[in-house]
Amino acid sequence: MSTRKQIVILGGGFAGVYTARCLERILRPDEADICLVNRENYWVYQPMLPEVISGSIGLTDVVSPIRRLCPRTHLVMREVEEVDLKNKLVTVSPGFRPRQKKIPFDYLVIALGEVTNFYGMPGMLENAMPFRTLADAMALRNHVIHVLEEADVEEDADLRRKLLTFVVGGGGFSGVEVIAELNNFVRSVKKHYIRLRNQDVRSVLVHSRGRILPEMADPLALFAQKILKKRGVEIILNDRLVAATSEKAILKSGLEIPCKTIISTVPSAGPTVLAKLDCPKEKGKLLVTSSLQLQSFEGQVWALGDCAAIKTVSGKSVPTTAQHATREATTCATNIAAAIRGGKQSLFAFEGLGTLGSLGHGSAVAQIFGMKISGLFAWFLWRCIYLAKIPGIKPKVRISMDWFVHLLFPPDLAQTRVEQESGIKNQHFEPGDIIFHQGDLGDSVYVIQQGECDVIKEENGAQRTLATLQAGAYFGEMALLSDKTRNATIQARTAMEVLLIPKGDFDTLRKSVPAFAEVFHELARRRAVAHAPLTSEEKSPAPQD
Ligand SMILES: Cc1cc2nc3c(=O)[nH]c(=O)nc-3n(C[C@H](O)[C@H](O)[C@H](O)COP(=O)(O)OP(=O)(O)OC[C@H]3O[C@@H](n4cnc5c(N)ncnc54)[C@H](O)[C@@H]3O)c2cc1C
Repeated sequence: MSTRKQIVILGGGFAGVYTARCLERILRPDEADICLVNRENYWVYQPMLPEVISGSIGLTDVVSPIRRLCPRTHLVMREVEEVDLKNKLVTVSPGFRPRQKKIPFDYLVIALGEVTNFYGMPGMLENAMPFRTLADAMALRNHVIHVLEEADVEEDADLRRKLLTFVVGGGGFSGVEVIAELNNFVRSVKKHYIRLRNQDVRSVLVHSRGRILPEMADPLALFAQKILKKRGVEIILNDRLVAATSEKAILKSGLEIPCKTIISTVPSAGPTVLAKLDCPKEKGKLLVTSSLQLQSFEGQVWALGDCAAIKTVSGKSVPTTAQHATREATTCATNIAAAIRGGKQSLFAFEGLGTLGSLGHGSAVAQIFGMKISGLFAWFLWRCIYLAKIPGIKPKVRISMDWFVHLLFPPDLAQTRVEQESGIKNQHFEPGDIIFHQGDLGDSVYVIQQGECDVIKEENGAQRTLATLQAGAYFGEMALLSDKTRNATIQARTAMEVLLIPKGDFDTLRKSVPAFAEVFHELARRRAVAHAPLTSEEKSPAPQD
């Protein structure tokens, strides 16, 4: 029987991948099998992700295949669904075959990072875009190009203004880098859109404290603020995003910003799979000792990276950065080797070398070994350091080439559209929001989950409220079934949560589920005849469109 120990690493980010690489170096193949579970088969170099928005770096240049980075590690590209610490089992999601897989371990490393958490922020999940993964960066780039294309076509001045307004929540490094790249990109490509050349672009950064970049010293943060403002970014301080609709961002102060693009880099929380873990936590993060061992599971389980609450030997809280995650990985791998071979656990003592943040267009801020640098030299330093840090020669060459090409030629404007499998989604509306106007083309059917709305008929310049719809009612089907335009306007009376079924999905459902089709055909027949509020016994009490 094999005496090799089974090491399972959960998460293929900085913490997980660097732990696997370090273990491969320290342990002999006959000492342990290493398995890494990650939902993607690649590792993402997050510090360079904002540059994907402008296309100054190609989409795939910020990722490396995990199999190549860790050749001796068995990669399981699945979702971690459950961790059973007592029975030493990890359950991962089904693949093509609809069965879960159980992976036993002797030693476990938890490095699942964190997620952007919009809990308690109505409408944010549906309308705000997070910015952490390659998919987020791709989606944002495509969305920005899409709104520019739409703004170029749109006649309605209000809508055009909304399309050209970009709101970013969170003034930490990722928020600042995202607004800087996005603002630079939009302003530099605007000239290629004939009808947008003279239009204003509004870029807004919202931050909850008195100044941006809390990780940096005052002069550097103020320098960054000055540069951003000079480039046309509006900075709103001491305020935060609290809600969103498809038409606007809503701030805590009550300020509303009409827009079609909201990106939020805050707030963060641990992945949901960790919330179920029965172990000590601090603000949702796994509480570990200074040797990165999970409390109550010492010698078996280590946690590191953004999902762990770590203190150095000197008692300082460790920030969630890539430079710390890679050093934690070395400590973790050394300690696992010590647990296998019998040795002392080492303590995490790294205090950080400094911080760097890019503002794009030849400007950055850097605080290294106590020195404060800003402007062109900091930008050059930023590029050299991050290029040196990315593992492998190929990505280094590709990124250098991208930067060179970007210096000589204008940014690429092609949209890489990826068709969605299903567009059924939730949507949030605030009181007074128009869900659709009389005369609009029918593109979706709506099911009210919470709240109320009015059905308003406009005739000869006068408005008449035909009915008020409540939770459980559905509307919008008539225009879809008859292929005509909407015959009434729907306006939210209270805050509403609505399930939106786009035409394509609605057609698929009614063609494949006769009972579903019959419900809507019958409803449309009754509404066409009545054109007046239905009785209270009926499911949906009014003619709706
Ligand atoms: C835009 C941006 C810019 C940044 N810039 C900098 C910078 O300039 N300098 C710096 O030092 N730091 C920077 N950071 C922070 C740095 O990237 C993080 O601190 C670092 O990535 C943390 O590493 P991690 O391994 O803990 O988490 P991550 O790198 O997030 O990795 C977690 C991994 O776990 C996987 N995962 C999560 N849940 C599951 C599940 N249930 N099943 C399977 N897999 C799962 C994820 O897919 C991911 O691959 C930046 C972060 C962002 C978002």
